[in-house]
Amino acid sequence: VLPVVAIVGRPNVGKSTIFNRIVGSRVSIVEDEPGITRDRIYSSGEWLTRKFNVIDTGGIEIGDEPFVRQIKHQAEIAMDEADVIVFVTNARDGITQADQEVANMLYKTNKPVILVVNKVDDVNFRDQIYEFYSLGLGDPIATSAVHGIGFGDMLDQIVLQM
Ligand code: GDP
Ligand code: MG
Repeated sequence: VLPVVAIVGRPNVGKSTIFNRIVGSRVSIVEDEPGITRDRIYSSGEWLTRKFNVIDTGGIEIGDEPFVRQIKHQAEIAMDEADVIVFVTNARDGITQADQEVANMLYKTNKPVILVVNKVDDVNFRDQIYEFYSLGLGDPIATSAVHGIGFGDMLDQIVLQM
């Protein structure tokens, strides 16, 4: 049985793009509009000979539930199913109310949480990651899913914690 890595976070932070890069395929659909991805949500990945399964919880939707209920439900699934939780935020928007809602859920788990600040496409966004320390979920890891920056650091942490 492979360890399970679950990706959580509010819509439009880059979860599906990160998922696609981790699983090394382009089968998932990435949409520009928040909350309208119709993605493949389960796949597997590998890093430094360690194999694992990955869930993009953002692709799990339940009926017509309002947005905040959806992301809370997705976080619950991650906390139930995962060995390692990857919480994705982004540097462009800073910490939003919805990010804080997800963090509030994750404070309840004993499972390892890896805090990712995505959309750090260049050094100009680098300073934006510091405010994420205030979430109290450890050191934020800066990534750019479109350019693949920070993926070595993120995957090192994932396999270290699983
Ligand atoms: P999700 O809703 O969290 O799954 O987010 P998506 O992966 O669908 O990405 C939402 C939008 O952000 C898409 O337009 C992506 O191309 C874009 N995006 C994702 N990662 C990055 C990144 O690292 N940098 C930039 N500039 N855009 C990104
Ligand atoms: Mg998505």
